[in-house]
Amino acid sequence: MTEQVRVRFAPSPTGHLHIGNARTAIMNWIFARHSNGVFVLRVEDTDMERSSEVSEKSILQDLRWLGLDWDEGPEVGGEYGPYRQSERLDLYKKYTEQLLKSGHAYHCYCTPEELEAEKKQALAAGAPVMYSGRCRTLTQEQKQRFEAEGRKPVVRMKYPEQPLSFTDLVKGELSFPPESNGDFVIVRADGVPTYNFAVVIDDGLMRISHVVRGNDHVSNTPRQLAVYHALGWNLPAFAHIPMILGPDRTRLSKRHGATSVDMYAQQGYLPEALINFLSLLGWSSESGDEILSVQRLIEEFDFSRVSKSPAIFDVEKLNWMNGVYIRETDPARLAELCLPYLKKAGYKLPEQPVLEKIVAAVAKSMERLEDVIARAELFFTDDIQPENEEAARFLNKETTQKVFWSFLRQLDRIEVLNADTFRKIMKTVGQETGVIGKDLWMPVRIALTGQAHGPELPAVVEIFGKQRCYRLIKSRIIE
Ligand code: GLU
Repeated sequence: MTEQVRVRFAPSPTGHLHIGNARTAIMNWIFARHSNGVFVLRVEDTDMERSSEVSEKSILQDLRWLGLDWDEGPEVGGEYGPYRQSERLDLYKKYTEQLLKSGHAYHCYCTPEELEAEKKQALAAGAPVMYSGRCRTLTQEQKQRFEAEGRKPVVRMKYPEQPLSFTDLVKGELSFPPESNGDFVIVRADGVPTYNFAVVIDDGLMRISHVVRGNDHVSNTPRQLAVYHALGWNLPAFAHIPMILGPDRTRLSKRHGATSVDMYAQQGYLPEALINFLSLLGWSSESGDEILSVQRLIEEFDFSRVSKSPAIFDVEKLNWMNGVYIRETDPARLAELCLPYLKKAGYKLPEQPVLEKIVAAVAKSMERLEDVIARAELFFTDDIQPENEEAARFLNKETTQKVFWSFLRQLDRIEVLNADTFRKIMKTVGQETGVIGKDLWMPVRIALTGQAHGPELPAVVEIFGKQRCYRLIKSRIIE
């Protein structure tokens, strides 16, 4: 039997869920679902100063919003818990002691000033900047003297003298020479473990089979390998996925616009659009298709199609994709999704069936849910004005008045105004006035909506109803 796939997403709760981290979470989740594996959520909160419960909550909330459910982790528990690093300090302590005992780690008493001086010296000599390892060989007496001085030691890992290598599922064979790292700190003076140590203890104890994370962590991997080797643990598979860059090819940051999942949610991107878009940052489907449902992403995922080169975040493409998903959303759900925006705009909301018709009528021109505010405004105001001079010109055409008179006469004759009866009316108006094409349709469109390219007129008219249409056309009649 092959080993069960167990992957993890390990955010540090120091802010909102960043779009790059969301992409990492998505790839892990998709790979887990693709392989019938387990998706673990682990909160890496050992940086006590920067971590907060508020951030943890918001990250969990954003993951849920994206639809990424975790099989083990905070709030759901699991066999390998606890799943917050701050609750696992005893475990780190146990393995620190083991490494001290086996001679793979040692106490280092160097002060920040001494380390700084060492660094300066190395820089001046053009040597690589790394810890000299001078506390490796302290005698018992020297240690006691430092202790007596009140120095609090850190624990350092002896960095191996052989090259360290591993095969990355994305990048292939990678090897790091001994001089790429010095002895590194695994436990700080205050007893808190560092990332490179805690991550190994957790990935090992949680039986993680694949470590899938951003390429910015490649340089950390040799240190982590050193810890695995020292403990005699098997290595997981590693897959370092390409970084996400802005259009200017610098690392994605606030300068490029919204960077956190919650900001995208607020602007009205749909979770399924964001999942689709982010999955394609560094991965592609064999079919070349771009619109891929979560189900298809899960079916088709394969590390061999993860790219080695960085991915460019193209917000135009995201907008296009989101528009596709908005148009595919059924009116009932779309109405529900648009409701907060319409409420925020202060619109007096109609009954549910009318609301559904309104959002369906404007969905075509929406790229984000927040667009509904501007697009649907005409349904919530009595003041319909031509959007520009070109539109206004249609109201003043020579033939316009007779079109409007005829329209009102026809309107008087029907009981209910709907898309069908409206089309019939327009046909009769055309016949009666002899006006055709743009000169027939545009004046009516502008009088009713103010826009030359708005939502489809029959749909608008049906929502407006007879009275409102009558009033709007009447107001353009010059007596
Ligand atoms: N807490 C680390 C981060 O957010 C996790 C890195 C890893 O996946 O190993 O970058």
